[in-house]
Amino acid sequence: MSDCIFCQIINGTLPITLIYEDEHVIVFRDIKPKAPVHLLLVSKKHIESLAHISEDQAALIAHMMLLLPKLAQAQGLSGFRTQINTGQTGGQEVPHLHIHLLGG
Ligand code: 5GP
Ligand code: ZN
Repeated sequence: MSDCIFCQIINGTLPITLIYEDEHVIVFRDIKPKAPVHLLLVSKKHIESLAHISEDQAALIAHMMLLLPKLAQAQGLSGFRTQINTGQTGGQEVPHLHIHLLGG
């Protein structure tokens, strides 16, 4: 979606500090970090939120979950916190599926 900030990042039209990328996801630093380490793990496919996931996307969600401890370890974190804001009333500002990874 052309008006989506995260789609623009995925398309390379907005600069980021890239941490990790594969076929399905991109990981970069949050522009307004709320912890010494604050990463955003974002699906490459534009999915509005966790409330818009279908059964056939279970493998994508599992992939994202399995990546979190690996990303945390690579950042030198012994523990970490995750957050998934869902919907405007759930505090979601960017309507493109992402997981916050915070620590340090
Ligand atoms: P949400 O509130 O939707 O769960 O989180 C969106 C996050 O995206 C916020 O923490 C915000 O700081 C971050 N963010 C918004 N725009 C940009 C951007 O252009 N670049 C980066 N790196 N992060 C962004
Ligand atoms: Zn998007």
